[in-house]
Amino acid sequence: MAAPLPQPHTRDDAERIADSAHEAFGGCTGLTIGNSRVVHGVTWRDWLPGLQLPAPRCRQGFSGHGVLGELRPTSWTVTCKRCCKLLDEQPALGLVFPADAPIQPVLWTP
Ligand SMILES: [Zn+2]
Repeated sequence: MAAPLPQPHTRDDAERIADSAHEAFGGCTGLTIGNSRVVHGVTWRDWLPGLQLPAPRCRQGFSGHGVLGELRPTSWTVTCKRCCKLLDEQPALGLVFPADAPIQPVLWTP
């Protein structure tokens, strides 16, 4: 059984977590989830009254709050095709991001 996620004990704890997330993700262009190298767009979702945390724009699932390393900010170009569609942008292909940046693999073709 997995250990329970740490929960903020006070409103001050929660505000510090949210402030830290805003500082970490405020200037980023995307985020990655866990060990995945797919870059998702960033949006902010309501967490507690008056507080928001970063999340993938496409609503890709992840465990936890996202602030304990489950989500990582990045300046790489968004490569998630669903996020690009939501952003009304073309997925980054090859030339516009660093050679070591990930590209979301095509799982099937219609
Ligand atoms: Zn995405």
